[in-house]
Amino acid sequence: MRSICRVLVFALAAASCFTPVHVPEFCQGAGPDCHSHDDTASDSQPPPRTVKSRWNISVSDLIQALDQFRVSCKKLIEAFPIDEVDGNFVRTVKNCIFSKSIPTPLKGPLRLAAVSEDVITGILDLDVAVTQSEDFLHYASGGRLLIGSVPLAHRYGGHQFGYWAGQLGDGRAHFLGQYSNRKGEIWELQLKGSGKTPYSRSGDGRAVIRSSVREFLCSEAMHFLGVPTSRAASLIVSEELVLRDQFYSGDVKTERGAVVLRLAKSWFRIGSLEILAQSAEIDLLRKLLNFVIDEHFPSISSSHPDKYLVFFSTVVNETANLIGQWMSVGFAHGVCNTDNFSLLSITIDYGPFGFMESYNPNFVPNTSDDEGRYSIGAQANVGLFNLEKLLGALSPVLTQKQQKEAKMILKGYVNIYQMRIHQIFKAKLGLLGEEEEDSYIIAFLLQMMEDTQSDFTMTFRQLSEVSDLQLHDGNFTQMWALDDLSLHKHFTDWVRMYLLRVSRQRNDTGSDRQNRMRNVNPRYVLRNWMAESAIRKAEMNDFSEVAQLHHILSSPFVTQETAEEAGYAARPPLWAERLKVSCSS
Ligand code: AMP
Ligand code: MG
Repeated sequence: MRSICRVLVFALAAASCFTPVHVPEFCQGAGPDCHSHDDTASDSQPPPRTVKSRWNISVSDLIQALDQFRVSCKKLIEAFPIDEVDGNFVRTVKNCIFSKSIPTPLKGPLRLAAVSEDVITGILDLDVAVTQSEDFLHYASGGRLLIGSVPLAHRYGGHQFGYWAGQLGDGRAHFLGQYSNRKGEIWELQLKGSGKTPYSRSGDGRAVIRSSVREFLCSEAMHFLGVPTSRAASLIVSEELVLRDQFYSGDVKTERGAVVLRLAKSWFRIGSLEILAQSAEIDLLRKLLNFVIDEHFPSISSSHPDKYLVFFSTVVNETANLIGQWMSVGFAHGVCNTDNFSLLSITIDYGPFGFMESYNPNFVPNTSDDEGRYSIGAQANVGLFNLEKLLGALSPVLTQKQQKEAKMILKGYVNIYQMRIHQIFKAKLGLLGEEEEDSYIIAFLLQMMEDTQSDFTMTFRQLSEVSDLQLHDGNFTQMWALDDLSLHKHFTDWVRMYLLRVSRQRNDTGSDRQNRMRNVNPRYVLRNWMAESAIRKAEMNDFSEVAQLHHILSSPFVTQETAEEAGYAARPPLWAERLKVSCSS
């Protein structure tokens, strides 16, 4: 036992570079059903369209027609110089933040493949009935412009796979405008897959059905898991043919184009600042920074002499938080380039992401990532790399003294992350207070999971569902993940230690522990095989499984009958092992 102890203490040090974290306030910002304590609710049917919606807004108060819906581009257009050149031809762009760019309509017929009622009514104040109109298909895919819209493509750069890649920008996305909703929030609407822009480089400006289904489902699922993320309002599919070599094997196939209407409070990225610093456009860099701080960091005073430093410190903190939250649900982003890292520390640009199944810090979701640069266990370190690049971009506006201080702030990142991870895993195990051996209990469990290749999501979930007595007796009927874990030769040692630890928690019962744990350990995540199965049907114009997944993943902490019948909490099917996801989208 002594030798395994040493291994495990080491494992935590390694694991803390990777481990998940999240915490009690997990579902902040998520919908009210996120933290439901009703764990055994059968399928919650969509509420009848009665008087009040979940936002306590009468349905009849919602906007009933799209010609009454307006967005504004004024703030951004007035704040920044716009590219002087017009037209969607590829070029190097200088001295601006945006280029005007008109979306290219998709070839019809168009179909509404999915819609998020939560976004449509809860953020956009629209009656969901409007999404059934012909108009909506055009507005939400770039064929028609919303009132007030001046579509823009954003100029940004980025470090891709460790190297400066120069100008990137919105090569297939169009900012449509800001919407100020009745809750006083301002959201930026963006189409993805809506055609070429000055930043399309060699791309066609399109996105295919499979990647669009994945972005739609995963961004919504992440929101309901309580992870900061962009949102998706709708998914429109077309008959427009798009060529893709999905696995870069020379096998080019035709697929169909699709557009996701997605939303974020801001789409600015680390790469938005990097391009300005790299091209020595320092006035513009300052302007963008001031704008981001004024609009999105209200606690930082615009007259504060150290405001850029405070901004940096906030992004360092929030990036550590975000990656911690990814780890808490076993999410690997797949392409953690600086152009895919939001300045608001939300998850953006869903591509070849994956939810880890068998616990493995080396899990790489993107089969094109040969070196495993963006493995799940590397995300925390990659976060640090990206923050170094952010600091590099900020340096021209920092004094020498501030640069030194910023470096110190960056040094604190590892600690912030490790503390966060520790908190998160403690919450995942239902541990209250702080005891000396907590890190050891966590590391011990993770090591056993790695040795036995236990499923990450279901091990934690089943630990949340098992009673102390069942755990003590090793009674794991129908608990396949715990069954796997219990094959470890030190499993009973761990159980003894864990049960002793929780027994010392004052005013805490076994069922309190279970309830707390069930609220942070989801039963359902978007596993690749689930997305793939829905995609295969969607490609045949059957969107029922997309809708089913969307519905189920909106309450990932609640056991649901249809999800159980569909096997979403069961051992993944054998064919799932052969699934590959690439960067192609
Ligand atoms: P991503 O890895 O999807 O975040 O994209 C990296 C860069 O490539 C961004 O500048 C995208 O706009 C651009 N890009 C990706 N796919 C396409 C495409 N099909 N057409 C044009 N630009 C693209
Ligand atoms: Mg991107």
